[in-house]
Amino acid sequence: MGKSTRKISVRDLVIGGGSPVSVQSMCATRTQDVEATVRQVKALEDAGADLVRIAVDNPKDVECLAKIRACTQARLVVDLQENFRLAESVAPHVDKMRYNPGHLHHLDKGKAIEEKVAWLVAIAKKNGNAIRIGVNCGSVAPDFLERFPGNHVQAIVECAAWHCGLLDSLGFTNYVVSLKDSDPKKVVECNKQFSQRRPDVPIHLGVTEAGLPPDGIIKTRIALEPLIAQGIGDTLRVSLTLPNDRKPEEITVGRQILDDIRHNRFISVPDFGKGLNIISCPSCSRVENGAFVELAQEVKKMTSYARQYDLTIAVMGCRVNGPGETDDADLGLWCGPTTVTLKQKSATLGSFGYAEVLPLLRQKLDQLIAKKSSHALSAHTRR
Ligand code: SF4
Repeated sequence: MGKSTRKISVRDLVIGGGSPVSVQSMCATRTQDVEATVRQVKALEDAGADLVRIAVDNPKDVECLAKIRACTQARLVVDLQENFRLAESVAPHVDKMRYNPGHLHHLDKGKAIEEKVAWLVAIAKKNGNAIRIGVNCGSVAPDFLERFPGNHVQAIVECAAWHCGLLDSLGFTNYVVSLKDSDPKKVVECNKQFSQRRPDVPIHLGVTEAGLPPDGIIKTRIALEPLIAQGIGDTLRVSLTLPNDRKPEEITVGRQILDDIRHNRFISVPDFGKGLNIISCPSCSRVENGAFVELAQEVKKMTSYARQYDLTIAVMGCRVNGPGETDDADLGLWCGPTTVTLKQKSATLGSFGYAEVLPLLRQKLDQLIAKKSSHALSAHTRR
């Protein structure tokens, strides 16, 4: 509830300027399954969601979004991701749009970023939408990565600040900013630095790909507790890998975190972050095989024998963001309709059936552990 931030409006919801921290989530149903999506919007609202995000990837999704809009009074947000060109048709059906500066960079390369953002802002103004500038660790615009080599946090902060300056110069201030990473410590660092830089801009907090509960909840608390306790953060999302019928838990957990902070109940997990780190996305309408959540749960169970090793395994739900978001992990899996692609860092090892991929993952994990152990042994004998 950043007191110094300005107030922005998402229809009748005020974010910032000391307003209560709002809690949001995102539908994981297929947008074209209107009935299931309306049901999930309602379930999230019933759990106390102030805002509900929906993904759109194509004109058919937009048609369905209009039908969803007609069935609910919920405040709707659209994540434009790689589809900023759909903004004009999407905007009349939603209250807020999120654009990702990194994705804007890769699309319509012949146009300047300033031109693309100005076009989005004109649409938002015309339709009374708020905007979220959503900067994500996995998709920071390359020019910022080049300007701040080896300093990911600064690249994220500078990218966000630059886009804020651009929106301000366009006479648009009805926006929030998010600076997300899957590492809670980086989330704290980015948001602290950004709030010092732009104390007037409301912040949307979250840890991206926090993963399965309970670890995903702990990671989120590690980031959100110190920030919110210092007055940083105006709205939040808890991103958890959950089956569709349990999605409202993201809201319940978000509200519980806020309540605990209000009552000075902080969870201290000093050793968290050491050992095996499993990150997994919260899933969304892009998931093409519902077995993704089960796979993430099985990966967690199967790898428990390796919990003391400092390795990261990423499990992502789709072929849109999965390939990029697994690049930094020691081992990565991203799910397609019938196969799962296994990766080691940025190298693709192959695509395998859902049933075959776990033993292969185990094989690769064993090899990494053996390598780590032999390094540790040779370091020991050199002493
Ligand atoms: S990785 Fe894909 S399925 Fe998972 S949340 Fe991101 S876009 Fe959705």
